[in-house]
Amino acid sequence: MPEPTTMSLPCEPCRRCVFHAWQLIDRDELCWRAEWECDTCAFGAPDTCGRDEGRGPAPGDVRAAVVAAEGTVLVDLRGGGVPALRAVRKVLGLRLAQLHAAVRDGYRATPVEAELITRLITGWTAAGTAAPG
Ligand SMILES: [Zn+2]
Repeated sequence: MPEPTTMSLPCEPCRRCVFHAWQLIDRDELCWRAEWECDTCAFGAPDTCGRDEGRGPAPGDVRAAVVAAEGTVLVDLRGGGVPALRAVRKVLGLRLAQLHAAVRDGYRATPVEAELITRLITGWTAAGTAAPG
């Protein structure tokens, strides 16, 4: 049996590593988690460098993995008014140009993003904070 090499954990995924990523909602804020899972190398083991999480919009590779796993839903923002714009901007951190495109074409959100956007719009509208018109 070989000596355990505790001091030399791999810091890159091997070819058998599988990337998992998901999003969640914590107190009306978008969060994300990502981790590698592997039955071969230590990179995919818990408590190594293969695990990551954060708040706010997911990084590109994390979001891509979420989209691959869960797909997207089209969020229609037309007619949503100011609450819709505020919700999308808060959840996704879009720049103004991206925001305009999202209003014009709808936005391909992940199911979790869509749920949070809808929840914020509904909450703000119900609270009477929507701008008139
Ligand atoms: Zn691996």
